[in-house]
Amino acid sequence: MISARIGGGVVHHNELIHGSSFCAGELGHIMVSFDGPDCMCGSHGCIEAYASGIALQREAKKLHDDDLLLVEDMSLKNDECVTAVHLIQAAKLGNSKASSILKTAGTALGIGIVNILHTINPSLVILSGVLANQYVNTVKEVIRQRGLASVQDVNVVVSNLSDPALLGAANVLSFSDQNEPADLGGRTAHTLAIFFQEEYSRGQSWQVQGY
Ligand SMILES: [Zn+2]
Repeated sequence: MISARIGGGVVHHNELIHGSSFCAGELGHIMVSFDGPDCMCGSHGCIEAYASGIALQREAKKLHDDDLLLVEDMSLKNDECVTAVHLIQAAKLGNSKASSILKTAGTALGIGIVNILHTINPSLVILSGVLANQYVNTVKEVIRQRGLASVQDVNVVVSNLSDPALLGAANVLSFSDQNEPADLGGRTAHTLAIFFQEEYSRGQSWQVQGY
């Protein structure tokens, strides 16, 4: 089974913020609705309950159960498990319900990020790992629509790095967005980083990259 969580960290004056009980990186459990989907943490409405790979897989399975997932040029082998990859593939191939689910997930993430922007006002937001490319445009849109004028200058980028090590290497990041310089220098002093964490088991790998 493929599993993916959402983690993150805040860098302030070039130091990673840990918090009083080392909980400061639990950005995936910022709640963005009163009554959203159940989350693994025991609460509901968390960013992770909308936008993690597991959440997308849950929605993909629901669509598939209703015979609404697969579109032309898509097929599942007999024992193939429905995953988030199928949802993304369906959206790319014109499945509007799949697109809508991805949009909702990206919006949930964007709202969570806007809340963080209004709290700590970072200069840079880094989305990293699997799914980052799926959400970045929606996140920017949500910031434009819902962010205060004072946070509109924030720079939102996608990093090629796919694990939390990016926080330690914040000054030498290279970005998939070719418009961004590889070295952001001092601009990493106040950074919010969110990563879509991969967990592998049974030898399977996450295949989102390339979509
Ligand atoms: Zn949660």
